[in-house]
Amino acid sequence: MNVHDIIRKVRDKEAFTHAEVVSMLEIDPKSREAHLLMGEGARISRELTDNTAEVHGQFALNLAPCPVNCRFCAFAAKYGIFKEPKELTVQESIDYAKGFDNAPENAAVFLMTTANYDFGKFMEISQEVRKMLRPETLMIANVGDMSPEQAVKMKNAGFNGTYHAIRMGEGDKTNAPVKQRLKSIRAFQDAGLVVGTCVEPIGPEHTNDEIAEKILLAASFDPAFSGAMRRITIPGSDLEQYGMISELRLAQIVAITRIATPMSVLGNCTHEPNILGASSGATLFWAEVGANPRDTNEKTEENRGMSVADCSKLFAEADWQVGKRPSIYYNKKHNVLAEA
Ligand code: SF4
Repeated sequence: MNVHDIIRKVRDKEAFTHAEVVSMLEIDPKSREAHLLMGEGARISRELTDNTAEVHGQFALNLAPCPVNCRFCAFAAKYGIFKEPKELTVQESIDYAKGFDNAPENAAVFLMTTANYDFGKFMEISQEVRKMLRPETLMIANVGDMSPEQAVKMKNAGFNGTYHAIRMGEGDKTNAPVKQRLKSIRAFQDAGLVVGTCVEPIGPEHTNDEIAEKILLAASFDPAFSGAMRRITIPGSDLEQYGMISELRLAQIVAITRIATPMSVLGNCTHEPNILGASSGATLFWAEVGANPRDTNEKTEENRGMSVADCSKLFAEADWQVGKRPSIYYNKKHNVLAEA
């Protein structure tokens, strides 16, 4: 299938097969054909969103050695990067959340925890944060796997949605089985929480077959947004030997994810924020403060993390306007996840 056939298929609103997604991923990112795909990814995103991108702000409630030991994560207990657990107080959490909420171009506030963070404390702090946010602000959770009962409690605590992904190498490079991740997504959606997702974290060792599988799996549960994120090397980690994919290759995958994902999914994220991604169909960046699984600095705002203003500026450089809250991606009714 050549690129023109792909573009024709997009215009006819036909679904792509696994083999077709693999064939797009096989194209050399430096080629003219890859850039045609990147242009098509951007065209779809700009049309679906009326050329309006979003910035969401994320902060972590804690910093701790995490027993799930995802090989790509700075919190993995086995790496010993962060030895002592540290937790934000209620006031520190409110301060971080309000920092995002006061930024006019911030479309949602994400509260992240490691997988072993106490659920009761999570509910307690989340409710305090919720009270201090503007009523229209969307509050999103980025947490570990949850039961249906916990998902309902999260909804009742004021969450509008969650971020949850079936990560690259899930169940092999992580201690979280794919089935469990899918069950959590179902639990969130059944509780009325809208789920955003991403194909992540992609490294050079991942095959086109695996990337294609994850692109189509993400599309199958009708998320608020999909997209693509590359793995950032954690020094001393098991995966350091593989290095990182380039921003150009990431931009190609961002575009392919957009092309192969149904039009009912408005958003298409990339991380970390970059202009190539924005000009290839990425419509969502994250600003980050506090602990960050891709950073060995306890305060990512002093290292890798970008502010809402930084993210907005990158989008403006790619001729996007940035939406003023609340997120239109999370403001959707989802379909039911196929049987996990
Ligand atoms: S990615 Fe999440 S679950 Fe995995 S080790 Fe890091 S904090 Fe734990």
